[in-house]
Amino acid sequence: MRLLIVEDEPTLGQQLRNALEGAGYAVDLATDGEEGLYLGSNEQYDAIILDLGLPEIDGLTVLDRWRKEGKTTPVLVLTARDSWSDKVAGLDAGADDYVAKPFQTEELIARLRALIRRASGNASAELIAGDIRLDTRSGKVTKAGEPVKLTAQEYKLLSYLLHHKGKVVSRTELIEHIYDQDFDRDSNTIEVFVTRIRKKLGADVITTIRGLGYSLEEPADA
Ligand code: CA
Repeated sequence: MRLLIVEDEPTLGQQLRNALEGAGYAVDLATDGEEGLYLGSNEQYDAIILDLGLPEIDGLTVLDRWRKEGKTTPVLVLTARDSWSDKVAGLDAGADDYVAKPFQTEELIARLRALIRRASGNASAELIAGDIRLDTRSGKVTKAGEPVKLTAQEYKLLSYLLHHKGKVVSRTELIEHIYDQDFDRDSNTIEVFVTRIRKKLGADVITTIRGLGYSLEEPADA
């Protein structure tokens, strides 16, 4: 899962980026409204954290442009403390949730998890396929109750496929959702990650759909 943070306070932006990377997300950080608008319009994100008070273009205008472009990416706005008018304006402009500054990072991450889950049609914080379980809260993966250790990239790939269980996901889509923009993207590495995940979780967990991509299905009853 890949996130965009649009936040002009350098310390807060960097702290958020570190915390979200630590929680297993690929993260891009924009420090003004113009850069944020551009990235949000041109890159593929699973959710966006948008400060409202931004240089160049203010957050509400950025959000309004995205919605007018037809972008449906979930957006969580950061509002000034106690500013009910900010919250109302944010929601009216198409925000999906808000957090007032100052906030606990844990709360922000929990709200993001919920937004991403809802956007992909998953009601539970635990994503399940057969005997494989991924807990989006702890970042832990188990197979038949036994913990399985995945690298950060393997986890991102498995998490994306589980969020989109039963759908065919192209290699390009995977690349767009598991790497941040600064990462040296090589589509061959996707196949390497898939091979490693199959070794750890079972050969049949991810199906290759020739010419189209990959699919993670709920296994049929034996
Ligand atoms: Ca600000």
